[in-house]
Amino acid sequence: MIPLHVAVQTPAHSSVAGPLSYLHDTALPAGTLVRVPLGRREVLGIVWEGPGDAPGDAPPAGAELRAIAGVLPGLPPLPEPWRRLVAFAARYYQRGLGEVALAALPPSLRELSAEQLQRRLRRKAKTAGEAGTGQAVSNSIALTAEQASAAGQIDAEPGPFLLFGSTGSGKTEVYLHSVQAALATSPQAQALVLVPEINLTPQLEQRFRARFEPLVGGPAIVSLHSGMTPAQRLKSWLAAHTGQARIVLGTRMAIFASLPHLALIVVDEEHDASYKQQEGARYSARDLALWRARDCGARVVLGSATPSLESWHASDPAVGRYRRLAMPSRIGAAALPRLRLIDMGQQPRRAVFAPPLIAAITERVEKGEQCLVLLNRRGFAPVLHCHACGWKSDCPHCSAAQVFHKIDRTLRCHHCGCSAPVPRACPSCGNPDIAPVGRGTEQLQEQLAALLRNVITPERRAARVARIDADTTRAKGALEEQLAAVHAGAVDVLVGTQMVAKGHDFRRVTLVAAVQPDSALFSSDFRAPERLFALLMQAAGRAGRDAHYMAAQQSAPELWVQTWHPGHPLFAALRRHDYPGFAAQQLAEREAAAMPPFSHQALLRADARTQEAAQGFLQAASDAARTASLPGADHVQLYPPVPLAVQRVANVERAQMLIESAHRGALQQFLAAWQPLLHAERRAHKGLVRWLVDVDPQAI
Ligand code: ADP
Ligand code: ZN
Ligand code: ZN
Repeated sequence: MIPLHVAVQTPAHSSVAGPLSYLHDTALPAGTLVRVPLGRREVLGIVWEGPGDAPGDAPPAGAELRAIAGVLPGLPPLPEPWRRLVAFAARYYQRGLGEVALAALPPSLRELSAEQLQRRLRRKAKTAGEAGTGQAVSNSIALTAEQASAAGQIDAEPGPFLLFGSTGSGKTEVYLHSVQAALATSPQAQALVLVPEINLTPQLEQRFRARFEPLVGGPAIVSLHSGMTPAQRLKSWLAAHTGQARIVLGTRMAIFASLPHLALIVVDEEHDASYKQQEGARYSARDLALWRARDCGARVVLGSATPSLESWHASDPAVGRYRRLAMPSRIGAAALPRLRLIDMGQQPRRAVFAPPLIAAITERVEKGEQCLVLLNRRGFAPVLHCHACGWKSDCPHCSAAQVFHKIDRTLRCHHCGCSAPVPRACPSCGNPDIAPVGRGTEQLQEQLAALLRNVITPERRAARVARIDADTTRAKGALEEQLAAVHAGAVDVLVGTQMVAKGHDFRRVTLVAAVQPDSALFSSDFRAPERLFALLMQAAGRAGRDAHYMAAQQSAPELWVQTWHPGHPLFAALRRHDYPGFAAQQLAEREAAAMPPFSHQALLRADARTQEAAQGFLQAASDAARTASLPGADHVQLYPPVPLAVQRVANVERAQMLIESAHRGALQQFLAAWQPLLHAERRAHKGLVRWLVDVDPQAI
């Protein structure tokens, strides 16, 4: 019997970070999928190389090694670059190797029996026959000069690239070109295209299919995201792993797809926060894309109209880590929207919509144009309030208010999900007159519909106000349906959260309005202004995209922003569509304050029954690190524990501690050496529910 290392999904925080040893009668190549006993269960594992894998190594003294239960037949081993990626991600994000490796596989692979898997593989082999004809693509369009220049550099240089292209500058066309070039490098070459949320951009998949199906065949283009059924996910995953899929379109999870012939990774809207996983291994798919591409010699293209300040800085010619490619012009010389800043201090008291904004929306709708109204808060009102006694609809389980949803007359907590019927009277004093305070998208839709009730479109029908947010799109296919209604012109004004601002290629939207963006101007999170600027630029980017339509309408696109702080410098940069100016100002501030990208951060988070217990764990962890004088500690600063902004969720108190260093390497060294101490502290703090480390956190 030969001892083998096998990565298995050990329970989170069991402090078993590496692979486990098992016995087998023959040597198995690294990457082989196996079933192994773990406790009383049998689980999926991956053979991993390790220090003890030389044949004949004796098992560690005292440990009774168990035998591998079986090998998953018919699957090629997971390739070495894939294993390197997983090992890097586990190391960098401070998680167990087995946890990251197994989480990277489609869930149903863990459950399928050998026979079921065989059946799947056979079925796939049949469909593989209908793959591409290899004909040249005929339906590509002529690139503009800016597109051609960007695409040419991506073809000619090694990268990594940051494609800095205005909204509507035709970035997708450059991706399509680069994918085609990558696929042409070899008959096996594969391309991975990452998007923030695939269901938000059904158009993108259509464009890829239209372009590449004639070239590589339908089955060679697959998607990979969490909205798919387990069976679909397995099918796509197998297609990628066996090389049948040449193009994988996916969300952040797809960065872990097994792609043995990976030649190109595209990360569209690279600034989007959804690239950062927020549970388990808290990886950044964008950052892993850069690592993976460098490691396996693939090209990587990050694209955005409003890059993350990290990527922008890295592509500064003086820094030179990425190659910056600029596409400032919109297709067809379409104009970018003009900013109309409304000083809410000058408007009638308590006005939700400034009268000039309503007049502008009315005028657009009467001309048959569409408007988009943005508010980042769903529900009807963020809180119910009793003016008699001061009662508020606080969530009983969280330090947050329950949101009033008028449609089903419920109070719902957006943090823990609990829901209750709206009380008939104040639960505290009996006052029947409890009132909603503040507003959400549901209320905006209602008020707009009332304000526009006499407005008639050129088709002689009443104006229609629709809403798209997490509440209206819960059902499968609902979002696609609602977006289709907008594209078809059945909607005149669309109210929604940031879901409506992202990526959509609306052709008849000419006015976009942000009604209440101010809170982000004074947030305690240093990334809030960056996010607001990106959101407003993206939102503005939905207006006036079709130059022909705008000319025919004799119309100019506008971005309206209602604010109490019209003098804020963010708006001055927004008025000029000046992302570089905004970024320069933000980066100067960050540099002066030694914040990312000029420093590197991690968070240690603790959840406990009491705030004292949560902070107690963090303080003890901090003290232990100091006492042990861990490697890297000289360059690492530990801040005092603080409660999270929303301190209590579902009856759990949450606290965090910031860890910062000017040197990424020192921070990494420190965090790795800290792990065993954290496990030891965890055992000493019984009141702790969980702890976690978040490397490169997106929200502080
Ligand atoms: P972005 O992703 O940069 O916002 P898109 O790639 O969606 O922009 O392109 C905007 C619009 O311009 C799309 O409708 C697209 O089909 C069109 N388009 C892109 N490139 C060209 C081109 N070279 N010629 C004509 N139309 C183009
Ligand atoms: Zn009351
Ligand atoms: Zn709650």
